[in-house]
Amino acid sequence: MDFKYDVIVIGGGHAGCEAAAAAANLGSKTCLITMDMNKIGQMSCNPAVGGIAKGQIVREIDALGGQMGLVTDETAIQFRILNRSKGPAMWSPRAQCDRAKFIWSWRERLENTPNLHIWQDTVSELLVENGEVTGLVTLWGVTFKAKCIVLTAGTFLNGLMHVGRHQLPGGRMAEPASYQLTESIARHGIAYGRMKTGTPVRIDARSVHFDLMDTQDGECDFHKFSFMNTSTRHLKQLQCWTCYTNEEVHRILREGLPDSPLFNGQIQSIGPRYCPSIETKIVTFPDKEQHQLFLEPEGETTQELYLNGFSSSLPMDIQIAALKKIPAFRDIVIYRPGYAIEYDYFDPTQLKHSLESKIIRNLFFAGQVNGTTGYEEAGGQGLIAGINAHINCHGGEAFTLARDEAYIGVLIDDLVTKGVDEPYRMFTSRAEYRILLRMDDADMRLTERAYRLGLAKEDRYQLMKSKKEALDQIVDFAKNYSMKPALINDALEKLGTTPLRQGCKLIEVLNRPQITIENIAEHVPAFQRELEKATAADSDRKEEILEAAEILIKYQGYIDRERMIAEKLARLESIKIKGKFDYASIQSLSTEARQKLVKIDPETIAQASRIPGVSPSDINVLLVLCGR
Ligand code: FAD
Repeated sequence: MDFKYDVIVIGGGHAGCEAAAAAANLGSKTCLITMDMNKIGQMSCNPAVGGIAKGQIVREIDALGGQMGLVTDETAIQFRILNRSKGPAMWSPRAQCDRAKFIWSWRERLENTPNLHIWQDTVSELLVENGEVTGLVTLWGVTFKAKCIVLTAGTFLNGLMHVGRHQLPGGRMAEPASYQLTESIARHGIAYGRMKTGTPVRIDARSVHFDLMDTQDGECDFHKFSFMNTSTRHLKQLQCWTCYTNEEVHRILREGLPDSPLFNGQIQSIGPRYCPSIETKIVTFPDKEQHQLFLEPEGETTQELYLNGFSSSLPMDIQIAALKKIPAFRDIVIYRPGYAIEYDYFDPTQLKHSLESKIIRNLFFAGQVNGTTGYEEAGGQGLIAGINAHINCHGGEAFTLARDEAYIGVLIDDLVTKGVDEPYRMFTSRAEYRILLRMDDADMRLTERAYRLGLAKEDRYQLMKSKKEALDQIVDFAKNYSMKPALINDALEKLGTTPLRQGCKLIEVLNRPQITIENIAEHVPAFQRELEKATAADSDRKEEILEAAEILIKYQGYIDRERMIAEKLARLESIKIKGKFDYASIQSLSTEARQKLVKIDPETIAQASRIPGVSPSDINVLLVLCGR
């Protein structure tokens, strides 16, 4: 066997799977080295993909030719679009998946990817010569050579788990931690820190009184994650349940606080602010009488349930005693307690936008090791790191995404520009161009770029093109078709909107909140015919196309405005400053700006303007020095 590769990916989690698939699909001879092949794509916490802003990331991964959307669609046991009551910029798909089937779907895809080999082992050391990574050594003593390496070791680096005062080394429950690797990287001057995260108990469904809970059903319409014309809902669709904690539960949890590693000083590192443990919630919000909990299935056939909202590292007996005070859980039997885990991460400001290290050439970092949290954030980074590792092997410009192009662009720019002081998760509020980064149009934004790269294949590209043609046709028709009051006013009244006083274009009527493409088309036969014509080649995707067309029509004004602002800022993005200045010697910059600019060494003026501590007047100084 030949242990020489173009690209080696360390770790078969969500970042590693996307990275390995991308590099191999682009044509690099790739090896994925992971501790346990049976845990490829394992979801360490809830087996749920997507959610607010995260769902958009998965759509982007899919539009770029990644796999997470396909795997999620194949294994979803409940699907919903969140935030439907808000505007389309906020809509986000979310799916509860079958944990075991998710793993097997990933594994089957990777095992059948040409150019990709999988090696089950633990990497213990990176080999670096003259500031460039050249290979690695595994615990079994195997030496691999590679042109590029992508590190995606997740929560495993020096991982330490906590349940009350009980501590156990490990990468996550029942899996060993990874030792020596952090140190072998830090030896070359790469800074690292410590973070923590946690997960709730897993419950045996046979012990739950479901009649004492409310139910929450999924949706069975046309929505899914992938833009490919795959079918929806492959597995049996299941319910979730909701209930609440109460004062008694809180009392027991409070009594356990002296044994809580989060509050007795045992855990010093910072956890995800937006996924707090139940003990953090009762301490932070002492006046809140109850907290909502979601009981979610772990699979199509298993009895195992995940208790969303009850993440905890309190002693096991406290967790159980507290839960027994919730009527539905009075006879509760659990499979395992909630626990917290501390792990190493590397300061992401040491990376370029391509996710290549600034310190060790051809070494890439993606996922939780960059201080993020979440499968989707990991997958998005993995994809970009895998693509750029391939590019470094075979030549070409680094592949990066701008902030107005993708949430993945926002994520990576935030990481490399601002760094992290707590686990970073994506929110729609992190994006300044939310209306440009919708879930419905990720294919329009990204598939062409991935196609030019060679990652999106012909079938994906043709699907995107035919959708675009259909959208253009529908929008053009709406802009040009004249509505006559005499012919439409009765219908408008029935639809609950005011009649027309004079003729107008169809698009103006469509802009009214009461009007949808579907309800007005029933009264405008020419429009109905046009819709049939526009979607004839894509009848399977008709609903998807009509939804996207309606968003384009109703939100055109907002979309145009954000696009204009993005284009104005793009001018600053085009002023390259990397390596141009000796910031330390520019006295007219503030001291903080000097320090931050030296540390980040931004690519462009626009990136410099996003560095915390670099003020508008510092940017003016740089603009003057650039002759602007
Ligand atoms: P991981 O999914 O951790 O995958 C890392 C992979 O690398 C594993 O396959 C591992 O075997 C392999 N590996 C590690 N070291 C080596 C080595 N030296 N050699 C070979 N292989 C190696 N996210 C949320 O968004 N919300 C939450 O509430 C949440 N709770 C969590 C609770 C717990 C207990 C844990 C462990 C994680 C939680 N997460 C949560 C985080 C989420 O699981 C991660 O963000 C996501 O899995 C990161 O993906 P990744 O690919 O970076 O790493």
